[in-house]
Amino acid sequence: MREPPREWHIDEPQARRTQPIAVLAASAAGVFQPIKNMLRISCPHCGIRDEVEFAFGGPSHVTRPAFEVSDAEWADYLFNRENPKGIHYERWQHAYGCGRWFNAARDTVTHEILAVYRMGDPKPVLPGAPRGRAP
Ligand SMILES: [Zn+2]
Repeated sequence: MREPPREWHIDEPQARRTQPIAVLAASAAGVFQPIKNMLRISCPHCGIRDEVEFAFGGPSHVTRPAFEVSDAEWADYLFNRENPKGIHYERWQHAYGCGRWFNAARDTVTHEILAVYRMGDPKPVLPGAPRGRAP
């Protein structure tokens, strides 16, 4: 197999990526173009895979309030989400793999995924992470 052109390689720290990525996507003109800056996500069930295998599921650890709460509290639950600059706890699904959901702690500045953990596990305490709402 031929080595992909140099411009398809993504230079990142070895700790995050060990192999060059040469993934193609069809453009509107039908020409395949390299996808750059793809995340490598570690599924807690399958291991490290390319981002294209995953679906983002929104913020994690969002707890539905009881029915007795006020309209303002319901509105806050339904419409307001945290948007931190820094560590964000998220749900991801390995949609084109095992199909299972898991949580990840991702830095929204660098996109580095700092931790992945199974659904139901407590969120890891990471330095600089916001305390957020209920766990
Ligand atoms: Zn998986």
